[in-house]
Amino acid sequence: MVDILCPHCEEEVELDDDASGTYSCPHCDGEFEWGVEEIKMIHYEPNKSKSEKPWFIIAIFVQIFFYIQAFIATMAAVSVLIVALPVILFLVVIVFIGIFSV
Ligand SMILES: [Zn+2]
Repeated sequence: MVDILCPHCEEEVELDDDASGTYSCPHCDGEFEWGVEEIKMIHYEPNKSKSEKPWFIIAIFVQIFFYIQAFIATMAAVSVLIVALPVILFLVVIVFIGIFSV
């Protein structure tokens, strides 16, 4: 059994789990549909996921591409630093020698 709220008086109405169709509320005698929208959603869902899936895959590929790009950029920066480090050290040594020899 499922407890739902009546759209007319908002009182709880008990229905079967697989109930669908038009029902009348025992509290206010108002009629309402139940289960019909669920069937619509089942028909609608495959079309929705079909149209969204390619964009989802493209988004993942773009994300991976940017991660690789960021990784390459970081590696390039690190390698430049490694190559430049002896030069920087050499310049620092030259400057220190210049300062202390005066
Ligand atoms: Zn009601």
